[in-house]
Amino acid sequence: MIKRSIFITGTDTGVGKTFATCALATLFQERGVKVGVMKPFQCAGSDAFDLKNNLGLDDAMESINPYFASEPLSPHIAFRREKIKISIEYIKDCLARLQKKYDVVLVEGAGGLLVPIKERYLMIDLARDLDLDVVIVARLGLGTINHTLLTIEQARSRGLSVRGVIFNEPTLSKRKIPEKTNPLAIRKYGSVNILGTIPYFKDISRQKILKRLKGNIALDKIFQQEERLNTQKLVRDDKTYLWHPFTQMKDWLAQEPLVVEAARECYLKSTEGRWYIDGVSSLWVNVHGHCHPKINGAIARQAQKVAHSTLLGLANVPSIELARRLVAIAPKSLTKVFYSDSGSTAVEIAVKIAYQYWQNIGKKKKKMIVHFAHSYHGDTLGSVSVGGIDLFHKVYHDLIFQAVQWPTPFPSAFGAAKDFSRSFFISLRKLEQYLKKEHHRTAAVIVEPLVQGAAGMVVWPQGALKKLSDLCRAYDVLLIADEVATGFGRTGTMFACEQEKVCPDILCLAKGLTAGYLPLAATLTSERIYQGFLFDYKEQKTFFHGHTYTGNPLACAAALANLEIFAKEKTIQKLQPKIKFLTKELRSLKNLLHVGNIRQKGFMVGIDLVKDKARHLEYHWEEKMGVKVCARVRHYGVILRPLGNTIVLMPPLAISKQDLKKIIVATARAIRDVTEYASF
Ligand SMILES: *Cc1c(COP(=O)(O)O)cnc(C)c1O
Repeated sequence: MIKRSIFITGTDTGVGKTFATCALATLFQERGVKVGVMKPFQCAGSDAFDLKNNLGLDDAMESINPYFASEPLSPHIAFRREKIKISIEYIKDCLARLQKKYDVVLVEGAGGLLVPIKERYLMIDLARDLDLDVVIVARLGLGTINHTLLTIEQARSRGLSVRGVIFNEPTLSKRKIPEKTNPLAIRKYGSVNILGTIPYFKDISRQKILKRLKGNIALDKIFQQEERLNTQKLVRDDKTYLWHPFTQMKDWLAQEPLVVEAARECYLKSTEGRWYIDGVSSLWVNVHGHCHPKINGAIARQAQKVAHSTLLGLANVPSIELARRLVAIAPKSLTKVFYSDSGSTAVEIAVKIAYQYWQNIGKKKKKMIVHFAHSYHGDTLGSVSVGGIDLFHKVYHDLIFQAVQWPTPFPSAFGAAKDFSRSFFISLRKLEQYLKKEHHRTAAVIVEPLVQGAAGMVVWPQGALKKLSDLCRAYDVLLIADEVATGFGRTGTMFACEQEKVCPDILCLAKGLTAGYLPLAATLTSERIYQGFLFDYKEQKTFFHGHTYTGNPLACAAALANLEIFAKEKTIQKLQPKIKFLTKELRSLKNLLHVGNIRQKGFMVGIDLVKDKARHLEYHWEEKMGVKVCARVRHYGVILRPLGNTIVLMPPLAISKQDLKKIIVATARAIRDVTEYASF
């Protein structure tokens, strides 16, 4: 599908955007193309009115020009002074109506791409939000190269496609060398189509435009098909060359995968051009939405300095700054940062450090690691060793090290939270008995604080984490908090440990650390642990561990931008009403025939699908109900990924209430389709 709407922007105010819009529209009309125009913002003047009249359009002025201010000022000032609130959604609706009516719609901006429309919202954001390609209007003459190339670069750096540059001749004068050569220079250095030049007109009329421009403007180039991504070929190549994670490839080969081409805010775009809400934050990583200008910008700026340099024997700027910032926001017990690249390596490092710590300080018997039933800490052998999900465990049994799996209850899909809580604390009391006896052989306990994510969003009863932390203190056993999933706001606070005022000895971070932009992990330790490794070189008590990309500057720059956005945009604060809203909306799912228990902690949600509520019958795992519901929910424009018979919702923290509601509605429909109507 070719996009049939174009955003017309200028290199500056007064370069003749409206004139160019009128000329282009007239030429389209002459070809029998139904063309509409829109000027979302107008500050003084009669441009929109003139367009309507010159083109003989019958649309209401409000739909051609939704926002009008009477002073000739930048929109962000003009509309504020007149106390006019701007709704981008409204503009989208207006455009959608015009798009229904016309073959082509030309949307004229105001000023250039970086003109502010309202608080933190520029003209370029509007072009992106309206999903339009751009045509740039430039002034013909000396000095146009710089402005035009800057505009092209800016547009492209934000992912907009520039369909061409059209020149306007500002005055009637003889064309000299700049007028003749500048368009060629712009074509060359901007790698862009030149659509033509509109000569100086004293006053415009349809006849004059047609007489002087017909055949001189390269209209076809505007909609020239870009080389479209060929979904069929991509899918074929994917199936030929890729091996997907956690995937039975036999199943994969039998279905049609969705290929993601781009993303923006909380939406993913497929190569087919359809947009989907990213309902699980691209596997629990995305925080502030996709293509956030601050994070993209930070990565791009760092790339201009140095993309990678090693931490083995050298230091680098972003990794230093990030370590300082992480220590500042982490629970106060933590003072040192060890980098790696994934949640699994963060855990691997934590376990090795905990083990070696006791060896280093001479308590050589303290070797055992305790972890919990249903826990998940990653897929490398060390992290699988402390994992409690049997399915991932079984095959690798002979390869993994011995650890103690502490039995904790699993919440019933049929509710009864009280029973769960009671048996949970009984399990912790038994752990106390165990530690009393075994503490001299126990190095550490590893835990997913508050929520065992991969288990199906198992929310620990209130106080359990604190209780565990107290036990570790009492018996001098290290506490490793794996906040790979729960960190960075996911449970409603920056870190889950905060909610029970727990200060772990070791903290593992990954998923949300770069807001979902680049692979980076960090293992934070307390001063005591760090001191346990400070010995003379010859004693060989160094921590012998490091990855090639440890402390990668690009990833650290992304993480720094992430933390900056948390502070500037008050992400955690703004999350609170959204969590409440989500809780409220989730209640509507409770009534569905085949929904059992729903667990929520902040923005982590697990919805259990059950076969028969009254008779307490669960679906057999082979029925793949979770997979089926998540396949179905794509029809409603939402991407989800289940954990067995549990549907997971974990949207980016930046999501709007409106989109949250869309996820809930889509999920409810998909669940009903799959569980109540057998045909799916
Ligand atoms: C995802 C996850 C991991 C593993 O992280 P990767 O980056 O996939 O290696 C470890 N611990 C927890 C709690 C996780 O959710």
